[in-house]
Amino acid sequence: QPYVAAADRYTHHGYRRVGESGLLLPPISLGLWYNFGDNKPFDGQRELLRHAFDRGITHFDLANNYGPPYGSAEENFGRMMRGDFKPYRNELILSTKAGWDMWPGPYGVLGTRKYMLASLDESLQRMSVDYVDIFYSHRADPSTPVAETIGALDTAIRQGKALYAGISSYSPERTREAVEVARSLGTPLVIHQPSYSLLNRWIEDGLTQTLAESGMGSIGFTPLAQGLLTDKFLGGRHEEHATKRRSFNERMLSEDNLRRLEGLNAIAADRGQSLAQMAIAWALRTVTSALIGASRTEQIDENLAALDNLEFSDEELRRIDEFAGD
Ligand code: NDP
Repeated sequence: QPYVAAADRYTHHGYRRVGESGLLLPPISLGLWYNFGDNKPFDGQRELLRHAFDRGITHFDLANNYGPPYGSAEENFGRMMRGDFKPYRNELILSTKAGWDMWPGPYGVLGTRKYMLASLDESLQRMSVDYVDIFYSHRADPSTPVAETIGALDTAIRQGKALYAGISSYSPERTREAVEVARSLGTPLVIHQPSYSLLNRWIEDGLTQTLAESGMGSIGFTPLAQGLLTDKFLGGRHEEHATKRRSFNERMLSEDNLRRLEGLNAIAADRGQSLAQMAIAWALRTVTSALIGASRTEQIDENLAALDNLEFSDEELRRIDEFAGD
């Protein structure tokens, strides 16, 4: 059956401006870090992306090494691009990144011009697109001049292989340097992709201010702390599949964190939200878009319903601060 997108896909929520740019993102975006590698059935992946787009999620976030194996999330996405999303290419914001390890040897990692531009070419091939909407430097590279890394983003844009430039997980200081270089090249940095959640508030210590001063927007990754800020771990529940993620650290299930989850969940319940919904609504006070992952369409629906209540009273914020923190 050829895919036909839901006719009402733009009626569910509005779109948010990324800093001072013209770029608009959905309040909730979907990342393909987990659940889109060759280790997961393709049909399930397709169901997730179709469902997300049908619900107005116009932004899919990728990176060169998402999988496993590396590259397979982009390849699987490419198959969906050719099969399902080709007629909708201009309705989609697609991103990819380079910065973490991708291929062996000295030229397949970090932030050199050599790596960044070669990696983008490979990503475009795998994704079956002529360009991505956002190309990111995935992390700061202390050994390469920031002007070289940002210069590579500028080149990608001038070559028509990316429309907007972004950086991920750069410190406030490094961000300021990158912003300056980008400005001097005439290619503004538009978006920063940092981690941000109720249990990880590092960006409040300088980065958000830097972004505001630089006219940049942000998309916060792991707003659910990789599934911790959901009902998976409440009331002594411990869903096995939640902890199978390579990167999910068992230490995240400390007594202290479990106590925080219960406290936060009580506040969410008073707001008529699930813990996941409150976590997303809370993150959206600070970031332009919340970048979630999902393994089931029901999770996407639950998370989107967060948008029904984005307001927080001062009293709620004060109660949240008692439990939220690093
Ligand atoms: P989240 O914190 O949103 O965690 C997503 C996981 O939480 C899902 O896979 C699912 O776990 C679980 N979940 C989601 N919704 C619900 C729900 N309603 N109820 C119960 N469980 C739920 O983000 P991710 O860690 O997946 O990261 C999101 C994206 O951020 C990535 O795909 C990637 O695009 C980006 N990212 C960027 C990084 C960077 O360096 N720039 C680093 C890390 C991520 P399960 O699958 O077990 O069901």
